[in-house]
Amino acid sequence: MEKPNVVILGAGYGGLMTTVRLQKSMGVNQANITLVNNHDYHYQSTWLHESAAGTLHHDRVRIPIKDVVNMSKVNFIRDTVVSIQPDEKKVKLENQELTYDILVIGLGFEGATFGIPGLEENAFMIGDIDSSRLIREHIEYNLAMYNSEEEKNEARLNFVVGGAGFTGMEFVGELANRMPELCREYDIDKSQVRIITVEGAPTVMPGFDPSLVEYAMNSLEARGVEFITSAMLKECKPDSIVYEKDDELVEVPTLTTVWAAGVKANGIVEASGFETNRGKVEVRPDLRAPEYDDVFVVGDCALIMNPESERPYPPTAQIALQMADVAANNVKAVVEGSQDLQPIEPKILGTVASLGNNDAIGTVMNDRKLFGWSATVMKKVIDNRYLLKLGGIGLLLKKGKFNIFNI
Ligand code: FAD
Ligand code: NAD
Repeated sequence: MEKPNVVILGAGYGGLMTTVRLQKSMGVNQANITLVNNHDYHYQSTWLHESAAGTLHHDRVRIPIKDVVNMSKVNFIRDTVVSIQPDEKKVKLENQELTYDILVIGLGFEGATFGIPGLEENAFMIGDIDSSRLIREHIEYNLAMYNSEEEKNEARLNFVVGGAGFTGMEFVGELANRMPELCREYDIDKSQVRIITVEGAPTVMPGFDPSLVEYAMNSLEARGVEFITSAMLKECKPDSIVYEKDDELVEVPTLTTVWAAGVKANGIVEASGFETNRGKVEVRPDLRAPEYDDVFVVGDCALIMNPESERPYPPTAQIALQMADVAANNVKAVVEGSQDLQPIEPKILGTVASLGNNDAIGTVMNDRKLFGWSATVMKKVIDNRYLLKLGGIGLLLKKGKFNIFNI
C-alpha cells in the first residue's frame, strides 16, 4: 500500500490511545495519520461524574489533544463526524469530507433512554464535559433559587438519579459528599435536601458482588442517599418523575433528574449502515467490522462476546484501551502488508467503583474484594496508570490523583 490514509474517528480512550500508539510505532513516511474529534481536548469519561457533581473541576477531567498527540506526525482535525460511507471509503464531517484507506471508529457512547417519555427533553445525562458542567450548574442554580422564591418549591431540593449501575452510584457518591458544603453556601437545611436513586432491579449495581453492594448502600445511605429499588422510572416530566413499584405509579417532584440508566453506541455507526448487534459493530477478533477489511472499531462502538458468559463484554474504558493496543498493532500490520493480525483477548484486571473521593468498592485479580480506603487507592492507581500510559510522567504529574492519604 502506498502511503495510506489512516483516519481515526474520536479521541476517547479507544481512538486517542490508538493514535498515540500509532504515532510511536509508525514512521511518518509509512502513513498519513488523521485524528478527528469534535473538541480539541480528550475528556476522561471515567471522571465525568465528579465534574457533574462539582467535586472536580472539568479542566482536571480534560486533556488538550496537542499535549499527547504529536501534531507533526498526526493531522488533527477538530470537526464533527456526520456519517461514514464505508463502501466509498469516505467520512462526512460537518465542514469537509475525508477519504481513507484504513478507518478506526472510536466514537464512544450516548445515553440510552429506551423510549421513556420525557427523558430526552427533561433529564440530564453525564455524557461529556458540556453535559457534566450543565448538571453542576443546574444543581447550584436550584439551590440558589430555593431561598430566592417566596413560595418554596420542594422540587428544587429533590435530586433524582435514574439507574444505580456504576455511573449512578459513582455520581450519587460525589453528590452526597458535596451537598453539605452546598447547603452551607446557599443557607439550606441539609435535612430538606433529598438525593433519590431509582433503580429498576431489586438491588443496586445488579450482578456485582452482594457484600460489596451492601457496603456501597450502607456508605451512601449514611450520607443521606435514598434508594428505591425494584422501581422502574416510567416518565420524566419538567417538574417531576414517575416510577412504578409494586404495580403502583409514584410521582416525585423534582427539577433535576440525572439519567444514568445505561449507554448505547454512538448512533452514527448504525445510521452509516454497518451491520450491528444492539447498535454496535460485532467485530471480528482482530477488531475489523465483519463486512469491511479496512474498518476497525474500538471502544463502546464495538461489541465483543465473552465466550464464558455468552454475553457481550460491558462497555468500559478498560476494554477500550486494550482494544486500542490491538487496533494500533493491526493497523500497522495492514499498512505493512502483513496478514498476521492480533486477536483481542480482553483481560479484566478488576472493577473498582468510587463512592465519593473517600470511599470505594471493587474487585481485583481473581475477584479479590476491596472495600473503603484500599479500593479508593486502587481506583487512583488505575486512573494514574492510564495517564502515564497516555502521556508519560509529564501528564501524570499534571493531571494525576495523588491525594491517597488525605481522603
Ligand atoms: P469515549 O471515551 O466516549 O470517547 C468518544 C470520543 O468521540 C470523544 O472524544 C467524543 O468527543 C468524540 N465524538 C463523539 N461523537 C463525535 C462526532 N460525531 N464527531 C467527532 N467526535 C465525536 N469504564 C471503566 O473501565 N472504568 C471506569 O471507572 C469507568 N467509569 C465511568 C464513569 C462514568 C461517569 C461513565 C459515563 C463511564 C465510565 N466508564 C468507565 C465507561 C467508559 O467511560 C467508556 O466505556 C469509555 O469512555 C468508552 O471509550 P471510547 O473510546 O469508546 O469513547
Ligand atoms: P449500566 O447499564 O451498567 O447500569 C444501568 C442501571 O440502570 C442498571 O442497574 C439498570 O437496572 C438500571 N435501569 C435501567 N432502566 C431503568 C429504569 N427505567 N428505571 C430505573 N432503573 C433502570 O449503565 P452505567 O452505570 O451507565 O454504566 C455503563 C457502562 O460503563 C458499564 O459497562 C459500566 O460497567 C461502565 N462503568 C464503569 C465504571 C467503573 O468501572 N467504575 C463506572 C461507571 C460506568
